[in-house]
Amino acid sequence: MTNGPQKPVLSVVAPVYDEEVLLPEFYRRVISAMEPLGVPFELILVNDGSHDRSGVIMDELHAQDARVKVVHFSRNFGHQIAITAGTDHAQGDAVAVIDSDLQDPPEVIVDMFHKWREGYQVIYGVRSERDGETAFKRATASMFYRLIRKITNINLPLDTGDFRLMDRRVVDAMKKMREHHRFMRGLSVWVGFKQTGVSYRRDARKAGVTKYPLRKMLQFALDAITSFSYLPLQLATYSGFAIAGLSVVAILIAIILRLTGNVIAGQATTLVSVLFLGGIQLIFLGIIGEYLGRIYDEVKRRPLYIVAERHGLEAPDIE
Ligand code: UDP
Ligand code: MG
Repeated sequence: MTNGPQKPVLSVVAPVYDEEVLLPEFYRRVISAMEPLGVPFELILVNDGSHDRSGVIMDELHAQDARVKVVHFSRNFGHQIAITAGTDHAQGDAVAVIDSDLQDPPEVIVDMFHKWREGYQVIYGVRSERDGETAFKRATASMFYRLIRKITNINLPLDTGDFRLMDRRVVDAMKKMREHHRFMRGLSVWVGFKQTGVSYRRDARKAGVTKYPLRKMLQFALDAITSFSYLPLQLATYSGFAIAGLSVVAILIAIILRLTGNVIAGQATTLVSVLFLGGIQLIFLGIIGEYLGRIYDEVKRRPLYIVAERHGLEAPDIE
């Protein structure tokens, strides 16, 4: 085993994408928060195809401190996949997932760890306050969580992110889910077990920029919805019934008008209804397409990620 001297009790997993400015500070904060716990721990940094010096810094940290272990992806695979790779490689009895941009304070892992010792199996961070995020991001995030709760049967706690600590049993259960469009925080609720929250103040990003532009946020929201709900597909059925119902009424009205000697001026009505229905049909084709594309991605059965290099870690039994 290339594992450190002792098998870690706690694994801290952090995805890293172009965070060169923050990494040294992140490492220091994690180490000084974890050391007082007095248990063997490992810090797994997953380099998600960074273009800056993040990879080099990670290798340096590993060279100085064997508790730091590194997985380098062959390219950028995305935040959720990076978290997956980290938890796949983790050896701890408890596995914490944390962003590497210091928006999630590493010190909160200590509280989570104590909850884990108390017997909880998933301890998620609840954002009581969010600093330095735009009003737009906060508003859309809040709408997103409420929507997900409404339309899925996943009881996703409000205002939680991927910042959480999971028991080994939870991690093992999640390892069995190899879907490509992964909504990790949903999956970790889906597996069940005893769950609880720890509230924390989400800090502003200390440096660098968000890697979630609007386009990626939308993609993420779509992945979340399609992962856990068929409602968008069912909407086609519902609107089909609604429109068919309306047209029956319209037919009756047209007949009555005709019998009473009135005529509806035809052209505009015809044009508008054809365009309207055409639009609705295209929207639902698009929705079917969203699901179809995801089904296609799953049936291809490609690996979730490709590792270029590992330092201090063995390849997990799955990939
Ligand atoms: N991240 C990643 N791969 C990506 C995008 C982001 O590993 O493709 C990492 C990033 O380095 C950070 C975390 O995921 O540690 C969260 O990303 P970010 O802070 O950009 O998202 P935000 O907090 O703005 O939602
Ligand atoms: Mg962030």
